[in-house]
Amino acid sequence: MSKRHAATIAARAGIAQDTAYGAVTPPLYLTSTYELPAFKQPGPYDYSRSNNPTRDLLAEALAELEGGAKGIVTNTGMSACLLALQLLTPDDTLVIPHDCYGGSYRLFTNLATRKKAFKLLIVNFQHADWAAQITAARPKMIWLETPSNPLLQITDVSAVCQLAKPLQALVVVDNTFLSPVLQQPLALGADIVVHSTTKFINGHSDIVGGVLVCASAQLGDELKWWANCLGLTGAPFDSYMTLRGLRTLEPRLRLQQDNTANIVDFLSKQPLVTKVYYPGLVQHPGHAIAKAQQSGFGAMCSFDLAAEQALLPVFFQALNLFTLAQSLGGIESLICHPGTMTHASMDAKAQQTAGIGPSLIRLSVGIENLDDLLADLQQAFNALASALRQQSDAKPVAANEDSARNSQQFRLNPALSALW
Ligand code: PLP
Repeated sequence: MSKRHAATIAARAGIAQDTAYGAVTPPLYLTSTYELPAFKQPGPYDYSRSNNPTRDLLAEALAELEGGAKGIVTNTGMSACLLALQLLTPDDTLVIPHDCYGGSYRLFTNLATRKKAFKLLIVNFQHADWAAQITAARPKMIWLETPSNPLLQITDVSAVCQLAKPLQALVVVDNTFLSPVLQQPLALGADIVVHSTTKFINGHSDIVGGVLVCASAQLGDELKWWANCLGLTGAPFDSYMTLRGLRTLEPRLRLQQDNTANIVDFLSKQPLVTKVYYPGLVQHPGHAIAKAQQSGFGAMCSFDLAAEQALLPVFFQALNLFTLAQSLGGIESLICHPGTMTHASMDAKAQQTAGIGPSLIRLSVGIENLDDLLADLQQAFNALASALRQQSDAKPVAANEDSARNSQQFRLNPALSALW
């Protein structure tokens, strides 16, 4: 059969494969262990930490979606990251981007500094000297996250892979923000793809999970061995739920992406927004690369609010449809403040270096009706504008130098002047 489209692979994941009763929807195998056919005769399954039929269906579907030789389903996205790092020894260098998910950053930096598990080089892939830095370091592994969390920065996966090949460095891409429906890093030359399946792949915010998909069976076998050895494999129930969520991945994402494009347009015109981060914007520095290596711009966006952090609660509390919560990729819209939530494990300096400002807000856009989402955001901006007016009325004559300087800053902000 010719290569199936992503929507078909996802919708048919595990469907009509039951050999026992012909069940269309595959059963959930909750067993921890399996009966041997006879003494010293192993069956296809022996113990669920090693292998489980429900988990295998998910691993196969995700490997096919990513175009890889083998998928290994893990119990969280972080354990998928940890699993990939088993390929490193203390003499090896791992290159990571300076902006990535805060939990990944915490894992890399703590394993490097506290456990000496590998050497670490933190690279800003947006700077012209990224290639020279990597060539000089001769790393064993290069970790990419594109688009990055939370600033949606884009890295040219093919360019990094071309540099990595002669250095014999493995390229790992965290594809959580797009899913295989919108980006397939293995086809761009990467060796391993990582997902937090907690996010778009499951899409319903009701499990945590992860997956590694390897381009080669050899790498896949090695990592599957480590997953069993370390006990990182995913729970059968979570795999069942993820399979169920996966089947609607393509239409969900299409709807979420359409909503996001319209919300980005709305945010770009908001006087209380100073910057919008979304690779679909032509002025986004990674727009051309995103257009070339992605088949869509995704359903995540971030923006800088033109208000000091003390006023953020006004904005958050006014919202009814954007729930203030960690995580992303579910059918429900979420809002988060990366500096104090998803990226709190990065210290202030690392946040500043990555470009995560105190008023940066991240949206994970869901499948709700677009007009309702826009109305919700608008009334939160109105609430914020009113709070800003009250704040300014309360201190018409600055009581001290600091407050004079602050109010002056607000008055000088051209984005805000429309409101006064
Ligand atoms: N990678 C990215 C890009 C993420 O956003 C996250 C979680 O937010 C993870 C990895 C970790 O996944 P999990 O929370 O499922 O362990």
